[in-house]
Amino acid sequence: MPKPEEILRSGDALIIVDVQNDFCPGGALPIAEGDQVVPVLNRWIAAAVAKGVPIYASRDWHPHRHISFKAYGGLWPPHCLQDSPGARFHPDLRLPESTIIVTKGVRFDQDQNSAFDQTGLAVPLRQDGIRRLFVGGLAEDVCVLATVLDALKEGFEVALIVDGTRPVTPAGGEEARRRMQQAGAHLVKTE
Ligand SMILES: [Zn+2]
Repeated sequence: MPKPEEILRSGDALIIVDVQNDFCPGGALPIAEGDQVVPVLNRWIAAAVAKGVPIYASRDWHPHRHISFKAYGGLWPPHCLQDSPGARFHPDLRLPESTIIVTKGVRFDQDQNSAFDQTGLAVPLRQDGIRRLFVGGLAEDVCVLATVLDALKEGFEVALIVDGTRPVTPAGGEEARRRMQQAGAHLVKTE
């Protein structure tokens, strides 16, 4: 199995979805083993830096009274409140200064699970001639799933870093992987 540095090349981008404190153990909306994606993604980050591959990191960035919160009709406890410690990227995630941050979930009237949803993310990727996206992060069956499906719809070749993501539930993860593969995503594992 090839290593990240043997896989990544010019024309690729690394998309790291919502590796924020609130989605890791101890956070407001913790995903089991959510923090275990960090060492895996750090290897992809290091490889991306070495290869000059751009790194995009999305973050959930909710206002108080967000529509995704239970009290306002949504599914989730309050999480990733703007500028709160829970909204910060995991402290061990070694994002370089050149990382491009994609902020989502800021609308009062609707949630944005996908890093492509009303962010315009496809524009800089196309401007840079990016064709392949390598996607990891949290959670596999929510924001990673939505991001991968949108990326495919935008015409990118997409690979899910399977050991660099974790689902809200195991069954949700299985279903998400099935849907991503059915839509045309590849699965890659980090050696
Ligand atoms: Zn959210």
